[in-house]
This record gives sequence, C-alpha cells and structure tokens, in this order.
Amino acid sequence: MPETETHPLVIVGAGPAGLAASIYASRYGVEHIIIGELVGGLITETHLIDNYPGIEDVSGFEFSQKLTHHAQKYGAKIMPARVKKMKKTGSGFKMETENGKILKSQTVLLATGTRHRKLNIPGEAEFFGKGVSYCATCDGFFYKSKTVAVVGGNDSAAGAAVYLAEICEKVYLIYRKGKLRAETFWINLIEKNPKIEVIYETNVLEISGAEKLQAIKLDKKHNNTETLSIDGLFIEAGSVPNLDFAADLELEIDAEGCIKIKPDSSTSVEGIWAAGDITDGSDKFCQVITACAEGAIAARSISNYLKK
Ligand SMILES: Cc1cc2nc3c(=O)[nH]c(=O)nc-3n(C[C@H](O)[C@H](O)[C@H](O)COP(=O)(O)OP(=O)(O)OC[C@H]3O[C@@H](n4cnc5c(N)ncnc54)[C@H](O)[C@@H]3O)c2cc1C
Repeated sequence: MPETETHPLVIVGAGPAGLAASIYASRYGVEHIIIGELVGGLITETHLIDNYPGIEDVSGFEFSQKLTHHAQKYGAKIMPARVKKMKKTGSGFKMETENGKILKSQTVLLATGTRHRKLNIPGEAEFFGKGVSYCATCDGFFYKSKTVAVVGGNDSAAGAAVYLAEICEKVYLIYRKGKLRAETFWINLIEKNPKIEVIYETNVLEISGAEKLQAIKLDKKHNNTETLSIDGLFIEAGSVPNLDFAADLELEIDAEGCIKIKPDSSTSVEGIWAAGDITDGSDKFCQVITACAEGAIAARSISNYLKK
C-alpha cells in the first residue's frame, strides 16, 4: 500500500496562482503542500515578461524561479508530480499522483492552469518535435535564419511572432480572422517589423514533409488553397483548462470548461478553491498578475475557513 500524507491544504499546480497562494498560506500559518508537474508554470515558456508591475523586464524562466524561491523561503513544500485522480471523502479530499503517492487534505486549491489547444489537423501529431512546436521560447532557436509560421491572433501568437523574428529569416503570422486580437503594443511591433508577414482570413489545413515538416496547406478565404514552404510551425491557438483529473468532483464549470469561482475564489464544492487561468475569474484575463491575485485571495479565504 502506498504511504498516505495528510495536510490541511493541498495546492494542485505550481504556477503563479499556486505559488502566490503558497506564499500567503505560509504567512497565514496554513500548513500545506504544492503538487505541480511543471514548477513555475506556463510562464517558464515566455521569452519576456514586461507587463508585471514593478519588474520592467524579466525572462519567463527567471521570473518563475524567483516566484518558486519566494514560496520556498516561507517554507513551501513542492512535490513535482502530476495528480491523476481526486475525489471527495467524508472529511475532505483524497488524491493520487501518477508516481503512486496518495494524499489527503481538508481543503484543496486547484491552480492547474491550461494547456495548449491543438489544431487537430493531419500531420500535427506526426511532425510534433520535427517542425511543429507549441513553444516559441523553448524551440525558436532551432530555426535560426529559417522560415517559420505562427498560427493564432492572440497576445501569445503575436509575442511569439515578434520573438521569432529576432532569430528567423522570415515569420508568417497566420490568423483565421480579418484582424488580430492581440494588444495594440504587439500589433505596433508586428506592423513595424519587415520580417513578419500577417496572412489574414486563413486556416491551416494540413502539415506535410518527409522526415521533418516542409510545408503547410492553407485554406484562404478568397483564394482557395495554397501551399506554403516553411521549416517550422508554432501553434498558438488558445488553451484548454487542465481539469480532467477532477471530473469526479462535479465542480460547476462554464461553457469553456473553466471553474466558476466566487469573489473569495471558492467554488461550488465546499472545501475546494480555484485560482488562475483555470477559473472564470478576473474577467478571464489570463495573466500572471490576475493568477497571483486569485491565489492570494484563495489563501486568505482558506485560512479563514480552516480557523472555523
Ligand atoms: C507564450 C506565453 C506568453 C505569456 N506571456 C505573458 C506575459 O508576458 N505576461 C503575463 O502576465 N502573462 C503571460 N502569459 C500568461 C501566463 O503564463 C498565465 O496567465 C499564468 O502562467 C497562469 O498561471 P496559473 O498558475 O494559473 O497556471 P500555469 O502557469 O499554467 O500553472 C499551472 C500549474 O499546474 C500544473 N498542473 C497542471 N495539471 C496538473 C496536474 N494534473 N497535476 C499536477 N500539476 C498540474 C502545471 O504543471 C503548472 O505547474 C503568457 C502565456 C504564454 C503561453
């Protein structure tokens, strides 16, 4: 039988929301453990953060390290693992990790963020790691002086295009609508950059190649299909909440699969709070600042709950 640990609070997710919650929980004297697969969270993938107040610019990796150290300074215990199942018990919650650990807790904070949405087109799985990537910061360097395309029109897609233009010879930004929905800041940078060409009203239909990706088939609204020769394709097509492991909890979620939270970050299930990109909070403005804020609010509410 695997050993079972028990804690007043288990935080699932070691990104900005989970780590900020941990800092506040420690300072409120709430004993807890963080279980997180990628310590630091999604922001580790970001080339540059220059919109977090008080820190003018920092790489995503450095920021996530600082956040992790800050939580550890106040005593955070971090278990790098993936939770595969969670259920309600008579007195709290029980969860099992993929590496066979079993934990019990009185309260839970879900801060598991989101994962990259796939295009689900032919060739996407086959050429993953051989030309297809979901992380410009991680893989951009492999395409030095080459031609790449980014799919998407949000801030992440725009940021990836600007970053890749620093490394690559040519960057196509392919978006299915007629206008990018990224911040004006990014749009201005894109418009000024001669290496970036935006292809509007276009979908990617298929990815092809031999050993590596060589081309993509485009479906253009006004010109039928066309083949574009590229060396790499970066997919930035939005995100899907990471909540599969918590299906048994029957949490109230919205149409996009985000957990519905109240102003104190509590959920529809007593004893469970949620924070960060996984929630419908902060007007769904998925940023580090909002994830940290929801984490802090949740920690305070959990502390009050445990005192009762
Ligand atoms: C390319 C890119 C650029 C960005 N740039 C910026 C920016 O400049 N400024 C900004 O403010 N925001 C930026 N963001 C958004 C920012 O990264 C997110 O809003 C923020 O990371 C959300 O934090 P979170 O803690 O909610 O989730 P995440 O950071 O996604 O962390 C989720 C955590 O949960 C873990 N997890 C997931 N499932 C499980 C499981 N089953 N078991 C255990 N652990 C699990 C993950 O491994 C991770 O530790 C960017 C995002 C991307 C992708």
